[in-house]
Amino acid sequence: RLHPGGEQLLRRRAGTDVSAALDGPPHRHSANARRWLEQYYVGELEPGDEQVPPRGRTGTGVGTGVERPGDGTYSLCGHYNHCVPPQDLVDWQKPLLWQVGYLGEKYDEWVHQPVDRPIRLFHSDFLEFLSKTAWYVVFMVWTPVVLYLSWVSYTSLAQGNTRLFSSFTTEYSIPVHKYYFPFIFLLGMVLWSLLEYLIHRFVFHMKPPASNYYLITLHFLLHGQHHKSPFDSSRLVFPPVPASLMIGFFYGVLRLLLPEVLGLSVFVGGLCGYVIYDMMHYYLHYGSPKKGTYLYGLKAYHVKHHFEHQKSGSFGISTRFWDYPFRTLIPEETFKKED
Ligand SMILES: [Zn+2]
Ligand SMILES: [Zn+2]
Ligand SMILES: [Zn+2]
Repeated sequence: RLHPGGEQLLRRRAGTDVSAALDGPPHRHSANARRWLEQYYVGELEPGDEQVPPRGRTGTGVGTGVERPGDGTYSLCGHYNHCVPPQDLVDWQKPLLWQVGYLGEKYDEWVHQPVDRPIRLFHSDFLEFLSKTAWYVVFMVWTPVVLYLSWVSYTSLAQGNTRLFSSFTTEYSIPVHKYYFPFIFLLGMVLWSLLEYLIHRFVFHMKPPASNYYLITLHFLLHGQHHKSPFDSSRLVFPPVPASLMIGFFYGVLRLLLPEVLGLSVFVGGLCGYVIYDMMHYYLHYGSPKKGTYLYGLKAYHVKHHFEHQKSGSFGISTRFWDYPFRTLIPEETFKKED
């Protein structure tokens, strides 16, 4: 379900040797993807255990490339020096938040090596509870706000005395008709998508200085934890309490820049964009979009962000649009035989 190629693809290959498929086509799997696979390592395969024993191959191991010299057993992780993951840099039995700051130089590499295990951040059960959010909580908290504020904006635009530029000149100010509301709302959504890109790239992916314990801790709290454990379902969306601080800040900025109802209309569009973004992000991690759909492409794109290009690209989540002008688009793989 988590694999970008879909569950079916994995089921069809159950019990077979996938070493060739891992190198592609259609795509070459990243070092992180291979490391990820090691987590599901169950045991070694004896030559006799194979479900469909290939004729005339037993004992020679031709083409598998995973035969171990000497004992003739097949190993899922034959390319590696280790089958058991090496000792982790942190103690997973203890809360992680106060440990990561000590990683210093090693933090950046560590945090970008995803694992499939839930994260415990705090000692306190209460703080731990506050740091987790189910996806529908975001939907339930913000959708009523979007609907209510849309209604407020629309009805006050309908009174017909909203004018643009009225603070500079009364003669040439432009009246804002109530039918403009959908367009202003849409403008808000577009602005959100830009903001989503900028925050993700420049705030969430700002590399904390290795010597600063507190900035590393902050980075882990904001986004690092999601890269360390991308499939921790309770930590995929933003908790409403810190979110409302951010949202309040942007509301204040818009109110300062635009006449009141206009500012509110742009704001409510942006808020709607945020809710869609958080829901989509959750879906990209947990949903199984149909092959060929927009979301299927986005899922593969976002998985690349997590496993391969964490620092260099694929920052767009609900749309790839802003990756174009900022030149961070990771192109579809054109598979090369060499390398
Ligand atoms: Zn794959
Ligand atoms: Zn993600
Ligand atoms: Zn990221």
